Amino acid sequence: MTVSLKDPGPQPDSYDPDWVRAKHAFERAKRLRTDAVDQFIEVTAEFSHYADDPYTDYVERDPLSDEVEVLIVGAGLGSLLAAVRLRQAGFDDIRIVDKAGDVGGTWYWNRYPGAQCDIESYIYMPLLEELDYIPSRRYAFGPEIRKHCIAIAEHFDLYDNALFQTAVTGMTWDEPARKWSVRTDRGDTITSTIVLVSPGPLSRPKLPGIPGINEFEGHTFHTSRWDYSYTGGDESGELTGLSDKVVGIIGTGATSLQCVPHLGRWAEKLYVFQRTPAAVDTRGDHPTDPEWAANLQPGWQRERMENFTRMTAGAGADVDLVNDGWTQVSDELTAPAVMRELERRGGNMTMEEIGDFLFEEDYKSMEKVRDRISSIVADPETAEKLKPWYKRLCKRLSFHDAYLQTFNRDNVELVDTDGKGLDRLTTDGVVVGGVEYKVDALVFATGFEVGTSYTRRSGFDIVGRNGTRLSDKWDKGPRTFHGLQSHDFPNCFFLGYTQTGIAHNYVHTAEERARHLTYILTEWRNRGGTLVEADQEAEDQWVQTMTESTEMGKQFFVDCTPSYLDSEGDTGNPDSLLSAGYGGGPVAFFEILEKWRAAGTLDGVTIA
Ligand code: NDP
Repeated sequence: MTVSLKDPGPQPDSYDPDWVRAKHAFERAKRLRTDAVDQFIEVTAEFSHYADDPYTDYVERDPLSDEVEVLIVGAGLGSLLAAVRLRQAGFDDIRIVDKAGDVGGTWYWNRYPGAQCDIESYIYMPLLEELDYIPSRRYAFGPEIRKHCIAIAEHFDLYDNALFQTAVTGMTWDEPARKWSVRTDRGDTITSTIVLVSPGPLSRPKLPGIPGINEFEGHTFHTSRWDYSYTGGDESGELTGLSDKVVGIIGTGATSLQCVPHLGRWAEKLYVFQRTPAAVDTRGDHPTDPEWAANLQPGWQRERMENFTRMTAGAGADVDLVNDGWTQVSDELTAPAVMRELERRGGNMTMEEIGDFLFEEDYKSMEKVRDRISSIVADPETAEKLKPWYKRLCKRLSFHDAYLQTFNRDNVELVDTDGKGLDRLTTDGVVVGGVEYKVDALVFATGFEVGTSYTRRSGFDIVGRNGTRLSDKWDKGPRTFHGLQSHDFPNCFFLGYTQTGIAHNYVHTAEERARHLTYILTEWRNRGGTLVEADQEAEDQWVQTMTESTEMGKQFFVDCTPSYLDSEGDTGNPDSLLSAGYGGGPVAFFEILEKWRAAGTLDGVTIA
């Protein structure tokens, strides 16, 4: 069918797939921009203060010149898990380096009021059994997660050798020594046999490239660098400093949903500037039931984590252990739903019929979201503006039980930009549709860099064998074997979304990766190696596998509303998340790794 980019008019009374497709296309067209990820401003030069650390005072120290066995760049959950698994395997000489003032990564930086994990804490907070800890609630708040990260680092002695407030500025492979030379912004020169690079998939704040962004004279900050010296209060709210302030927040993504209720409660006036509405569903958070916790059997966390990933990857499972919005929506909109429908129709459906079936199920799912908005938001005009029109899985699922209610407050106003974004900033405020909204402060809830090059997001380049630069080798996207290693970069492991299995629960991806690299390094040590490297041929094959396997996922996104998931509609971007995740899904990817380890032959990896 042909898709019209004209407004298809009011919603018909009954389901009309042509109308829905036309509506999706119409809304998508408004948002689509030719500059894709280039529409955002990098937080360098005159914008670099947006990335400054407001949480820890800077401490001077002398430069170091020493040697370690394993150096890990980054101290977020991915790094901590890798460090712990290596420690448990007997690697003692580990150093973590991070530009933050402490461990935690995402949870170090994101201290905005209301910050909360959006994956159940029982499977998101790692190493619960090892630390004998049960989160206080189903979706833990930021401070509890940060405290848990600290507890992990303390429990496994990861602070001993760590360097905080230290940014790696480069690393170079020394072929004769078979070691890396790592440089930092503190003047350190550290020699390391093994390096793990874990800059975090969503760690670098980004700003919208709005005309006049430098002209605004009021107060501004990014949500991942919350300025409590201005707002007052802390992560639990009490933003008393805003009681006489008009505040604007730009963005309505996962972060905004969590902090808008607090801004609405405390600001004299709050404008929420929206480009694309979020599909906000019920969260259903609650304190942990002590009786449930007391009855958990050893191995419960791994079982629950694997079950969640199976459910949300459409791989199905006999029982839904987590049973929350994530698993329910996945069950309704992916393979298990098709299997049920196939059975109902006696086992016969063409690919087109399957596509039509899933499209209708998606519509029903989104109708529930839209109906929920109407039932909560009192003003019908505001409710209409808050209604999303795209396929549910086009954006990361979102859940919150206080966001929509905030629009019923007299001091809160939704400013919908009808998909176009803000016109510009002035010295006093924000212009949308030619109307100026004067504000004292502007909060950028505009997310993090995704879809730019790996080395740009890491903030440094890596120089491998024969002077090969990672930025050159990966100029058309990552080239790895199993997402972890790249030829000509021996003894170096990448812990990012670099051609790996991406589970909705980031911690599950990190856990499987940590297990895999620990296996490889244990073999390397047991075989007396000084070098461990991916073979060129194995890498080429994996790149080919990734290219082929990601094709279907990219097809799903061609009619999606743009977002960071598809590099703002640029599905061909080689650095896109769509190219980064194994297309067969995380369950199949983890099985590939497991089989590879079970074979014990290290096919594709040279140890010398
Ligand atoms: P997002 O990238 O999801 O959202 C950015 C927001 O800024 C979007 O609403 C976007 O609009 C808007 N925006 C960007 N440019 C403009 C512009 N020029 N004019 C107006 N609006 C603009 O970032 P978040 O920080 O919300 O979330 C990022 C991810 O981080 C989440 O998806 C999730 O994976 C993770 N996260 C996890 C949390 C958790 O576990 N607790 C909490 C928060 C985040 P548009 O939609 O139109 O692009």
